[in-house]
Amino acid sequence: MSRFVFAPPAPASVAIANEAERFPIRRIFCVGRNYAAHAREMGKDPDREPPFFFTKPADAVVDTGTAVPYPPETSNFHYEIELIVAIGREGFNIAPASALDHVFAYGVGIDLTRRDLQFEARDKGRPWDWGKAFDNSAPIAPLHRVTSVGHPAKGRIWLAVNDVVKQDADLAELIWPVPDIIAILSRSMRLKPGDLIMTGTPAGVGAISVGDRVTGGIDGLGTIDITIAPSGSI
Ligand code: MN
Repeated sequence: MSRFVFAPPAPASVAIANEAERFPIRRIFCVGRNYAAHAREMGKDPDREPPFFFTKPADAVVDTGTAVPYPPETSNFHYEIELIVAIGREGFNIAPASALDHVFAYGVGIDLTRRDLQFEARDKGRPWDWGKAFDNSAPIAPLHRVTSVGHPAKGRIWLAVNDVVKQDADLAELIWPVPDIIAILSRSMRLKPGDLIMTGTPAGVGAISVGDRVTGGIDGLGTIDITIAPSGSI
């Protein structure tokens, strides 16, 4: 067993609904544009060109109920409600027909985004990390096991800011549904238990400010609820 020069950090994790044990997080893959109306609002043509991915660090995850401090270096901080897929079985080059066998659970998450930094990076051909992969940028509500919820392919996905609904769509509108996302991602990466996939957001993204309360949900997968705290407050 390895010994370390200082105590290693606790593994990043996310809660599982109605259980004491938590899901340990290995990596977080995020799908870029996966709802047509959102692609349009980002200034891009929606089409069936293969999905592209970016990543967040595992320790960007925070639980529902967290007061997320307004992040540094942005003046355009956005919410993106998303379906979360939690991988429970290893696989490489997975066929779409067997892809769902690799899913352990589903959940609701928010892909918090420094939109100004993301767009600057996009327009200059630079990496998206500074726009997407910052501290506390992935609030995720407790996951729901496949054994209890199955594989939701339709159902309302929504987000509200201060109780005003901003995003309201259906999982059936995903350009690339979950089996395709897993199949395509697993051509490039060997997926392993603990990997999470954020599957993209529907239209209606927008800016949030200190003091805002952000709530959201997916039919059958519960709700998420965060507030935006002053910069540097945590
Ligand atoms: Mn997103």
